[in-house]
Amino acid sequence: MPQTFNPPIRTLMGPGPSDVHPRILQALSKPTIGHLDPEFVAMMDETKSLLQYAFQTKNELTIPVSAPGSAGMETCFVNLVEAGDEVIVCKNGVFGMRMIENVERCGATPIVISDDWGKPVDPNKLQDALKNHPNATTVAFVHAETSTGVESDVKTLVDIAHQHDCNTIVDAVTSLGGIPLKVDEWGVDAIYSGTQKCLSCTPGLSPVSFNERAIETIKSRQSKVQSWFLDLNLVMGYWGENTKRAYHHTAPINALYGLHESLLMLHQEGLENSWNRHNSHHQALRAGLEAMGMSFLVDESCRLPQLNVVFSPDGVDEAKVRSRLLTEYNLEIGAGLGEFAGKVWRIGLMGYASRKENVNLCLSALETVLADMNAPIEKGVALHAAQNSYNQIPI
Ligand SMILES: *Cc1c(COP(=O)(O)O)cnc(C)c1O
Repeated sequence: MPQTFNPPIRTLMGPGPSDVHPRILQALSKPTIGHLDPEFVAMMDETKSLLQYAFQTKNELTIPVSAPGSAGMETCFVNLVEAGDEVIVCKNGVFGMRMIENVERCGATPIVISDDWGKPVDPNKLQDALKNHPNATTVAFVHAETSTGVESDVKTLVDIAHQHDCNTIVDAVTSLGGIPLKVDEWGVDAIYSGTQKCLSCTPGLSPVSFNERAIETIKSRQSKVQSWFLDLNLVMGYWGENTKRAYHHTAPINALYGLHESLLMLHQEGLENSWNRHNSHHQALRAGLEAMGMSFLVDESCRLPQLNVVFSPDGVDEAKVRSRLLTEYNLEIGAGLGEFAGKVWRIGLMGYASRKENVNLCLSALETVLADMNAPIEKGVALHAAQNSYNQIPI
């Protein structure tokens, strides 16, 4: 007989979803009201301004798309790119590869510049590509590559794209709320994020923001956007301000309660405090992992605090370790992808998961399991190293 599903209580320290704060889970269970109810419409407006704060933008067109981060990605591409366009995609991991797929499905030509996995996008390569492809209309890249834990320099890349009169599409799914992201100051034209990483909300929504330049491009399209659901010309009528709201689709009402609460929490904490919190827990986790003898994939200068990618100790079956962490400690950490599959772990410290209990649980559980498997690690030092780090960089 099918029964009510009761999920186990886990600690989520993978590449997403991250731990959801109890306040957000509570918000999700509040009574459903109509999506054109004035009370709900007022909450939609407040959600937009909270999103503007999170993105550090005044862009009017700043809304959550009613589908996960991948749909935010698709929203940017289908609206800004037309068949026949040339689009430069900077690829340094899994999510850059998905951008190429998006460009192709728009009937456009991707011009791919590649950097090694674990390295940031090289601005010189972008400069060269733009010189060699003067007809390119758009440049797309990932701010925080979740497959490798590397950060690319958004401002520099956007400046170069603008020198060549290109729009920019930036993937900020893992960066929003976790590291500095300044949409207006950096001049980003179109950006998308997700709710399940550093916002610590449930998966399934994708905040996006478009500036005037991007809106101009959308309005001057020769062809219709091929996706009816993601066509911003239609979505704007639903989320737009001062207009009578036109029915487009039924918003995921309760999911939006959750997003509103998570953005409110970010606002109450303060963006900079959130960035600092991610950094101090990252430094403590890092100190513990390094004390055990593990090393990071990504150079310190461009390492993401919210996604720690470390090599697993030599001779250890890393999948077995992850499976024991899950079954014995209810702790989820992520596996490596692509060329790093079987070689690294991806340990997330995203949003509500970025806290001291999690750092300590992860270090002690890892140490215990690794020691039990006779891995070549230094024992009894990780938690002390983490505490020393907290003493130096308080939360
Ligand atoms: C998780 C992620 C996505 C996809 O988001 P979903 O919510 O899983 O669709 C896109 N880009 C990056 C960088 C991500 O980390």
